[in-house]
Amino acid sequence: MLSFDVIWNKMNKQKPIITVKNLSKKYNGLQAVNSVTFEVFENEIFGILGPNGAGKTTTIEMIEGIREIDIGDIEIDGIDVDKNPDKAKELLGIQLQDSEYFDHLNLCEILDLFGQFYSRKVDPKDILDKVELSSKGKSLVKQLSGGQKQRLSIALSLVNDPKILFLDEPTTGLDPQARRHMWDLIERLRKEHRTIILTTHYMEEAEILCDRVAVMDEGKILTIDTPDNLINELLKKGFKKEIKIKEANLEDVFLDLTGKKLRD
Ligand code: ADP
Repeated sequence: MLSFDVIWNKMNKQKPIITVKNLSKKYNGLQAVNSVTFEVFENEIFGILGPNGAGKTTTIEMIEGIREIDIGDIEIDGIDVDKNPDKAKELLGIQLQDSEYFDHLNLCEILDLFGQFYSRKVDPKDILDKVELSSKGKSLVKQLSGGQKQRLSIALSLVNDPKILFLDEPTTGLDPQARRHMWDLIERLRKEHRTIILTTHYMEEAEILCDRVAVMDEGKILTIDTPDNLINELLKKGFKKEIKIKEANLEDVFLDLTGKKLRD
């Protein structure tokens, strides 16, 4: 019998929740985003990949309504971002990279404060629980490890219970245990029927987590598909590399020796 999650995914897979059409942005003379068109489907984990300077952040910030659009249209759940930015923003959770400046407040107080920004009554304990920080409610940000700060930034993005979550390199700088726990957290957030847009420089991570990825370079989208289809297409073109089959790698050794328990 199919599980509820599988049925849910099948039912929702193809319903666009974000539609981006002919999106362009220039900074002075530089064409940072060049006529980009794509859709993100409801409840998928969608990766935006590309080297530094490819135009990922500019594209995402235009979708988030925090960077002005030069040309093009963006709809989020049927809402035109340009005409109705505030309504669109209500649907979004944006992961801030740096919450250090709330250094005089503890985590519960920061979550309460964010709740007030959104005029929402939040249960800090409940949100901290979701991101495995329930024991840190009374801690200050400066007392957190790198992985804990990353999870706090996700907790803060959940305050308005967003339908769509933007995660910007959520595992950069994390140790292997914390990285795997972050992957599990991202999967759990998807199971709560959220759509997740993720940027990452780790292709292994994109392959494991993302239903589909868009690969950008020089302001354009080069391709969009499932990681599996993209790999198969490359192989069909005759791509080959030397195969060294070993059923474990150094990361497996590391995790075997040090365990999978989250340390921070
Ligand atoms: P990515 O997120 O893929 O690294 P960005 O969207 O940040 O790419 O940048 C795309 C291009 O636009 C880069 O060449 C970058 O230097 C330039 N750029 C980004 N933001 C600005 C800005 N505020 N002013 C001028 N140029 C910018």
